Amino acid sequence: MTKTDRHTGTTDVVRLTDVRKDFGDYAALDGVSLTIGAGEAVAVMGPSGSGKSTLLNLVSGLDRPSSGSVVVGGQDLGGLDEKGLALFRRRTIGVVFQFFNLLDDLPALDNIALAGQLSGLKASAARERGLELMGELGIADRRDVYPAALSGGERQRVATARALMNRPALLLADEPTGALDSRSGEQVMQLLADLNELGQTLLIVTHDPRLAAQCARRVVEVADGRIARDRSTAVAR
Ligand code: ADP
Ligand code: MG
Repeated sequence: MTKTDRHTGTTDVVRLTDVRKDFGDYAALDGVSLTIGAGEAVAVMGPSGSGKSTLLNLVSGLDRPSSGSVVVGGQDLGGLDEKGLALFRRRTIGVVFQFFNLLDDLPALDNIALAGQLSGLKASAARERGLELMGELGIADRRDVYPAALSGGERQRVATARALMNRPALLLADEPTGALDSRSGEQVMQLLADLNELGQTLLIVTHDPRLAAQCARRVVEVADGRIARDRSTAVAR
């Protein structure tokens, strides 16, 4: 599922080394090192403005560090140009956003299948895999429904299916339950927990400790751009 790093033979999915991110003279991240192994589920917690999204944006290659190195799925992102980063984002990671980011003009299945087509799958193969994922995520009956007619929880399941389309080495989610009521939020977290049980490596930002405990065995606490705490927890399931 994960690519083995050719140089070291390890199966770390994420390796951040002394990462710093400055916005002007403000250090949003100030010396962060973090390793995530294949199959781990890690929740990132911390107050608003502490640097959680900045961290995720560096891991997902949406942004580049001011210094330090970011290696994901065996690829050193610092060595990739914009085209290489775009390919990396399509093939190596899947991202789930707080506000779903679905295309309103496309029914659920097409939203999901499009991610496969953008990575070179034929439309028919992409739809087939999309349907399979919708089945696994319990939303197969919503295939022809447009986002506006889906519930929040259903939208996030569609977004999750889309993120899984290309079998990413790493699934990232930034406050995936932030726009959901508590019941749908729990269901989405349970879905992520189930995916991790099946081997999916997860990196999830949430500020809800209960939801973090539900889906992650490891909680990384960020404060003022640094990792303040990194602990393994019992899983509440
Ligand atoms: P969190 O996700 O933990 O709430 P962020 O990572 O979004 O925090 O932001 C961390 C800090 O960096 C905040 O003070 C924020 O204002 C600042 N920041 C984030 N992105 C930018 C940007 N593009 N330009 C300037 N400052 C930014
Ligand atoms: Mg944030």
